[in-house]
Amino acid sequence: MRTIGVLTSGGDAPGMNAAIRAVVRAGIYNGMKVMGIERGYNGLINGHIKEMELSSVADIIHRGGTVLKTARCEEFKTEEGRKKAINVLKVFGIEGLVVIGGDGSFAGAQKLSEAGIKTIGIPGTIDNDLAYTDYTIGFYTAVNTVLDAIGKIRDTSASHDRANIVEVMGRHCGDIALYAGLAGGAESVILPEEEYNIDEICKKLIQGKNRGKLHSIIMLAEGLGNAFEIGKKIEEVTNIETKVTVLGHIQRGGNPTAFDRILASRMGARAVELLMDGASGRVVGIRANQLIDMDIHEALLIEKKFDKEISELTKMLSI
Ligand code: ADP
Repeated sequence: MRTIGVLTSGGDAPGMNAAIRAVVRAGIYNGMKVMGIERGYNGLINGHIKEMELSSVADIIHRGGTVLKTARCEEFKTEEGRKKAINVLKVFGIEGLVVIGGDGSFAGAQKLSEAGIKTIGIPGTIDNDLAYTDYTIGFYTAVNTVLDAIGKIRDTSASHDRANIVEVMGRHCGDIALYAGLAGGAESVILPEEEYNIDEICKKLIQGKNRGKLHSIIMLAEGLGNAFEIGKKIEEVTNIETKVTVLGHIQRGGNPTAFDRILASRMGARAVELLMDGASGRVVGIRANQLIDMDIHEALLIEKKFDKEISELTKMLSI
């Protein structure tokens, strides 16, 4: 293989840059030309492609976002759109493609592979919603961002004896709320994977207050109701002033943590290795700290299991 391409697609995640750097450097180290495709499948269809040099990825390992930019592309979901993309790949002589993104991006990569383009996926999303891998690039950085915010919220709410609802991202996956809930010492965590009982949450808040607790944190995963209405309900029942913070897109930014930089570097290099071995239609993951790779279709069929151990532990430690 003489020329490979790399793109980032879907929602961005801290650590995508470290993954791009690893693909570019590992590709060049192994004697290949590496082309950077801008704005995901959009850039592929429209030929927004440039050759990456060693220096193109200098000074980016520590930066959030993605220097290749990212986008969503409806046209790529059509047969016609993909035909255009395949032609562009041929014109640029790109024989193998590394796609850094989430499940949607992987579905696109699989279709390219079925059409004869060698593709490898790297999981880049803060949501940690891909079941085949223990962690996705960006997840732990997002959890740290939430923890940073919780620390600040604790400072101010302790001064005012307040309760706080902190709404975090994750789409249909509660991992950010769950892990940040445990690490941030949240009193309650509301997740898509578990039924919750507002009366239980209120009871816990009242009991805590009676024991002299100065403030409380309730983690709320997005998409489970209006945070402000939940806050109002809690305030009415408990008589504890309840503030709401919706963290939003700050969770998608920031310098990647050491864990995400190392994960991205390992996965990027492995993706290049797989292309050199002639593999296609596979995704790179990590299980028990060992890199793995598997068929994209199989990987996307695995259902995400809810981490009951972390959930039970959070409950036990927040009594
Ligand atoms: P993520 O990769 O973060 O899950 P999306 O679900 O938005 O993000 O997918 C990113 C892009 O991948 C889409 O805009 C589209 O171009 C492509 N894509 C998603 N699903 C498919 C599909 N079933 N077939 C082909 N391309 C897809």
